[in-house]
Amino acid sequence: MSSKKILVVGSSNTDMVIKSAHIPKPGETIIGGTFFMNAGGKGANQAVAAARLGGDVDFIAKTGNDIFGKQALALFNAEGIHTQGVLTDAAHPSGVAMITVDDKGENSIVVASGANAALTVDDIKAQQALVTGANMVLLQLEIPMATVEYVAAIASAANKIVVLNPAPAMPLSDVLLQNISIITPNEHEAALLTGILVNTVADAETAAHILHAKGVANIIITMGAKGALLFTNGQFVFIDAIPVTAIDTTAAGDVFNGALVVALANGSDITAAVRFAVKAAAIAVTRLGAQASAPYLNEVENL
Ligand code: ADP
Repeated sequence: MSSKKILVVGSSNTDMVIKSAHIPKPGETIIGGTFFMNAGGKGANQAVAAARLGGDVDFIAKTGNDIFGKQALALFNAEGIHTQGVLTDAAHPSGVAMITVDDKGENSIVVASGANAALTVDDIKAQQALVTGANMVLLQLEIPMATVEYVAAIASAANKIVVLNPAPAMPLSDVLLQNISIITPNEHEAALLTGILVNTVADAETAAHILHAKGVANIIITMGAKGALLFTNGQFVFIDAIPVTAIDTTAAGDVFNGALVVALANGSDITAAVRFAVKAAAIAVTRLGAQASAPYLNEVENL
């Protein structure tokens, strides 16, 4: 267990995945894919990734009062995640994601948010002790923006390290950005946040400068199979991806973020933390599934 406490606040979904030759176009039906189902949602994926890597993880989330919610809770407990903050909503079903993965490992995803969209500021107020008791807080954007903004505000006011994985891509308020210690967009999210089309490392540097000017101290732009660009203390460091054969990139970013906070919680500096996260994400892309693909600590250490 790491010495510092990690709080993840975010979504829990059940992923229904079909692996097929290609991703269907509108109106197209494809026969012959393999089906499997497992627990997903960016918040839950990141919480599980952090717990498997030895993090001391609390999770605040909301599921429906249904079989998917009960299964998710049982899985979080089995992973050693503290689940006091996993709430049940009587009025909404658990979140569900329909995912198609093609034979190159690319994916397309539709999410029905359900109870995730009902995780409110009042729910956080009722769980405030989990925020004040944590050393670092990890957020994504699959719960209401007002909830994300509130958690970031109280965590930042209490001098916590606040990590925002701004996924899925959407515009962010300046106030939210000012409450973030580390932001971790992928190329697409960085482009949406800055207006800079991010394809090359030079593009990513331009985008990072813009995010820095908006008040975020540390920027990590993940660039898929290329690796990740870090901007910290006025310096750029590019960390190459580990070359692997990708099978399913579904939760690459989630494993990256979970690993990043564990390394930081264990006292790594941010550059070492990004190196650790790049290794963990490389293992994840060689496996099918979201939470299922998250590696354990010994696997990352042995890479
Ligand atoms: P997201 O999953 O959020 O779209 P990325 O695709 O940028 O995020 O992936 C996150 C990180 O996972 C990358 O920075 C890289 O370190 C690792 N990664 C992603 N795809 C691959 C790949 N094909 N081979 C090796 N590492 C990868």
